[in-house]
Amino acid sequence: MRIDVVTIFPELFPGPLGVGVLGRAREGGVIDLAVWDLRAYATDRHRSVDDAPYGGGAGMVMKVEPFVRAMEAVRAAHPVTQPVVLLPSPQGAVFTQARARAYASAGRLVLLCGRYEGVDDRVAPLVGAEEVSIGDYVLTGGELAAMVIIEAVVRLRPGVVGDDASVAGDSFAAGLLDFPQYTRPVEFHGLAVPDVLLSGHHEAIRRWRKREALRRTLDRRPDLLDDAALDDEARALLAELRRAAAEHRRA
Ligand code: SAM
Repeated sequence: MRIDVVTIFPELFPGPLGVGVLGRAREGGVIDLAVWDLRAYATDRHRSVDDAPYGGGAGMVMKVEPFVRAMEAVRAAHPVTQPVVLLPSPQGAVFTQARARAYASAGRLVLLCGRYEGVDDRVAPLVGAEEVSIGDYVLTGGELAAMVIIEAVVRLRPGVVGDDASVAGDSFAAGLLDFPQYTRPVEFHGLAVPDVLLSGHHEAIRRWRKREALRRTLDRRPDLLDDAALDDEARALLAELRRAAAEHRRA
């Protein structure tokens, strides 16, 4: 997978993308990360990438021409594969695991990083970019958002996370939160690992994990249950959990 990032701070990359699983994916050639300095595509001798907003007001706005010129260079570098172009923005569609999956199936991704008051509104339509938000808060720039998106996408590519089953079992993969995990010691500061996990009884462990994933989702993110694809067993377990919760409230 080829990933291009356009930024006024190329020195921020690879940053966290250079270590651990992502670092190994880069070294192993699973992803090819190219970082482009937006200032190289400025049109004046001061290499300006921002200007005052029309209509007045605080701050500066990132100019349209450098992004369009940079995108022409990015496309020309790999003319065969059409990229998915993303413009991180707090006003974009919220980035979810489903979006990460969709982008992971693309061969090529381009991320355009804004700063200041944001990017001239003509950039997205001119370069064919989707605006994507990593959450309802405002960062100073698009670089951290780009890193978050790249990390979530790349770990879904085959072979990046050692055991593909671990990605398949993650929160959101099947529409639910993950079940609770424990490792040694069996007891610490009075808190013990649930007996079933020590039983060696694979079927009981499977069922416990399924119930706990449902319990956790019901407690913490009941909204996810509206869209989760539940099988008959999950529906029965959920009904049981809801009954127990209702009894607990009445008691
Ligand atoms: N004035 C803009 C607004 O209120 O919508 C915020 C601009 S923000 C200070 C500067 C840049 O940070 C944005 O252009 C975008 O690249 C990035 N950014 C900030 N918050 C983000 C978020 N939640 N998701 C994705 N990118 C974000």
